[in-house]
Parts: sequence; C-alpha cells; structure tokens
Amino acid sequence: MSNTPITVAKGDGIGPEIMDATLHILKEAGARLDIEEIEIGEKVYLAGNSAGIAQSSIQSLLRTKVFLKAPITTPQGGGFKSLNVTTRKMLGLYANVRPCVAYDPYVRTKHPGMNLVIVRENEEDLYAGIEHQQTPDVTQCLKLITRSGCQRIVKYAFEYARRNNRKKVTCFTKDNIMKITDGLFHKVFDEIGALYEDIEKEHWIVDIGAAKMADTPEAFDVIVMPNLYGDILSDVAAQIAGSVGLAGSANIGAKYAMFEAIHGSAPRRANQNLANPSGLLLGAVMMLVHINQPDIAAAVHNAWLKTLEDGVHTYDIFKEGISKEKVGTKEFAQAVASRVGQLPEKFKPVTYNTAPSQTVEDTIYAASTVKKETIGVDMFVQYPPGLTEELGKKLEALTPEGLKLVMVSNRGVKVYPGGLKDTITTDHWRCRFHSTTDGAPITHQQIIGLLSSAEAAGLDFIKTENLCTFDGKPGFSLGQGQ
Ligand code: NAD
Repeated sequence: MSNTPITVAKGDGIGPEIMDATLHILKEAGARLDIEEIEIGEKVYLAGNSAGIAQSSIQSLLRTKVFLKAPITTPQGGGFKSLNVTTRKMLGLYANVRPCVAYDPYVRTKHPGMNLVIVRENEEDLYAGIEHQQTPDVTQCLKLITRSGCQRIVKYAFEYARRNNRKKVTCFTKDNIMKITDGLFHKVFDEIGALYEDIEKEHWIVDIGAAKMADTPEAFDVIVMPNLYGDILSDVAAQIAGSVGLAGSANIGAKYAMFEAIHGSAPRRANQNLANPSGLLLGAVMMLVHINQPDIAAAVHNAWLKTLEDGVHTYDIFKEGISKEKVGTKEFAQAVASRVGQLPEKFKPVTYNTAPSQTVEDTIYAASTVKKETIGVDMFVQYPPGLTEELGKKLEALTPEGLKLVMVSNRGVKVYPGGLKDTITTDHWRCRFHSTTDGAPITHQQIIGLLSSAEAAGLDFIKTENLCTFDGKPGFSLGQGQ
C-alpha cells in the first residue's frame, strides 16, 4: 500500500518534543506516511507574518490535505491572527471532533465511565462574524444556520458514529426558542438520522442536555451541535472527563483536515523532556482513521491504553500508589512503541472499521424547487425609547402603496398596537408591514415605496428584513405577543 502524504508542524514550546514522540510511535507502528514539514507559530508571527503561517506552507497543506499540528505560542500583544481560525476558515474545516474520555483511575475524573464525542459545527452560527451596532443602544450578531451546513455536520456525526462503533447520536439545540435557525438544525438531524437505522437518535434542548452531560455523561455517546454550544460544551466535557491534557481533536472539511492536541504549547515545560505527548498522539490516531489506516490507528491507540494501565506515566498524571514509573516524553514514546501489538486489559480495546459499512449519499437540497414569496417586510427604525404611541401614530400615517402596518415590536416583544405600558423599550424598533390584501405577495417596489415614505416622514430606518414564505410556510418568527 502506498504512503499518504501529510503536512506536519512541530509548533512552539513543548510542540517539537511531543511531535517527535508522536512521530516515533507512528513510525514504529508502521504508519504509511510521507511527511512534509512546515514552520508555523511564534517565529513566523515575529518575522512579520500576522497569520503565523507562510504562503509556501499553505501550499503544502493544499497539496497533502492532511495537517498534523503541534501547539503554537501566540506572541503577546495585538495584531496576531489566530492560526487555528485562519486554517479552519481557509480550508473549510466544518467539523470539530473532540472525544472526551475518562481514564480512571490513572487520570483524576469526576466521571469514571465517561466516554463521549462532541461533534461541533465549526463555520456557521454566530461565528460567521457578522456584527453591527445599529443604534447607540443596540448591537446585533447574525446567527446564520444553513441547510447545507447542517446536512454536512449531521451526516459527518452519523458517519463518525458508524465508523467508530458508536451506538447513539444526540443532537443539542435550542429550538424551543430559535425555531427557525436551531429548528433547521434539529429538522435536518431528524431527516438525516432517519437514514441511519442502525444508530439510536435523540434530541435534547441544549440547556437541560448540558446539565445532563455534566451530571451523567455516561448517558451520551456522540453529541452533535451548532458552533456556539459546541464551543462551550466541548471544553466542559473535556474538563469533567479530566482529560484536558490528554485529549486530541480533529477539524475536518470536505477536502482538508487538521489534527492536534487540545492543550497549548506549555512554554514553561519546554525542552525538559517532561511533556506528555498523549493529546497529540490521540489527535494522530484520529488522523490515521481519516487517511484510512484504521489498523495502525487501533494498534497505536491500544498500545497507548496499555502503557497507561501499566502505570508508565509522565509527570502530569503521575500518582503515588497508582503509577509505577515516572518517565519523560521520550521514554513514554518508547514505552508506547514497545507495546504496539498488545491490547489493554483493564480498558476496553479499541477497534476502528476500515470504512463506513455503507455511506449515505448527500441528500441534495433542491433549492430551486422551493417556492419563495415575499409577503411583508420588517422595517427597523431608530426612535427614542418609551415613545411607543408616538411612533405607532407616525407609522400609521405613512401611506406606502398597498402596505399596512401590522405591528411594532421592541427587542422582539410586540408593543404596538395594544402593548403593555411596562415593557421596557430601547431605541431600536421593528415595524412590520404586510399587504393591504391579507396574505398577498408584495413587491420590491412596494418596499422601496415604504422606505421613501419613512424618509419623507423623517424616520431613521436602519435596515429591512423581507418576510417570506417558502412553499407556503412562513420563514419568519412572529413578534412575542403578536
Ligand atoms: P497550556 O495548555 O499550554 O498549559 C496549561 C497547563 O497545562 C500548564 O500548566 C502546562 O504546563 C500544562 N500542560 C499542557 N500541556 C501539557 C502536556 N502535554 N504535558 C504536560 N503538561 C502540559 O495553556 P496556556 O499556558 O494557557 O498557553 C500557553 C500557550 O499555548 C499560549 O501561547 C497559548 O496561546 C497557546 N495555545 C495554543 C493552542 C494551540 O496551538 N492549539 C491551544 C491553546 C493554547
């Protein structure tokens, strides 16, 4: 079988030591790799490259499509862009995969039976970075959730479950509140989940789901979620598993993938043969599965588990009475390498499938067949807080062709007509107009007419949002109380 080219960066601090240890183990286990090494991190930043990675190195990533990355040190002071965010966005790494496993009794944990994987959507949600201050009082951040993005991440979670012998995929959303955005994520989860009959499916509202995860993580197997919840909960899960120092993570895209440890470059521990290479090694195990060397991945993973249970430990997890031998980075790597071919006895041995038993084809979203109709418009205006009736009267007095005011809301709550006096208002008002003929479509020209009449009345409009139906179903939320 031919070798797979990969790009390797040794990073900063303890990076070079843990990368050498990892590569030593992979080599001894017979991983079939052609390694291209690139430089990233502190030196590159300090040489004036604000991204921390040179163009020539990016060419290597584009060539090999697989990146094994050691942690880097981001220099103090402003102006340095996060290398992780750059790589993730540049290479379209839409899935972040983080196994959170307890290794009781060798690593202190709150939950000895914990063994779950968080699959976090990595590109969308509030992280699209589209933010505006719209009035002196009001700021907003756009939460973008796409059907195609949900399909990609949900499908990835199910394929991951299948390939890694996991039995259940749970979805976390807040679709009781965000019925359209999180509702779409949940809906796509149900649609795609139905294609995986062999895997159990469930959905939790993220708040109670998170509480359950923190309390009884054994109840979960694979959890898939939108970006923000995943960002927060993957850290919570790694922390309560006790494995922050041992956890690896994968960032996966359609063409490219990046594998790393979740910890940083621990500069104080550098160059002393102290660091624990386990996080990066477990990242490398995920890489081996990704490049279709699951036999080597399992051999490395099992040798590592055996080393752990044999009590051969680096300083960070060494415990009197439990550990047998305190070793440095190099000796730990040798201990793992010498156990390749052995299976753990206390931990359950790991197996990886050669390939998913059956891959579900993408459910192609036929956007063109969906009938969209614009049936109204929300015009947002800046107007002093508290003057609900005055604004309402001004809006009623506008005479846009074929449009009528149906409500005004403030921070989502309907305040006009017939709002409550006690509702606190800001300077940011949403004024909803529909056709004068109930339910009839409206035109762009009518929206322009509305804006012209608002302009003539001296109203400071900030933006509009079209109110559309898709195949007859409303694609917008009602005002609270509407
Ligand atoms: P850190 O993860 O580097 O260290 C936190 C603590 O854990 C330290 O006490 C350290 O000694 C210990 N530790 C971490 N990894 C260890 C290992 N493999 N073996 C033994 N002990 C280990 O976090 P930090 O100190 O906050 O950050 C240091 C630098 O790393 C910063 O420049 C930060 O920006 C960077 N960082 C990089 C990444 C990355 O490249 N993915 C991630 C996080 C932090």
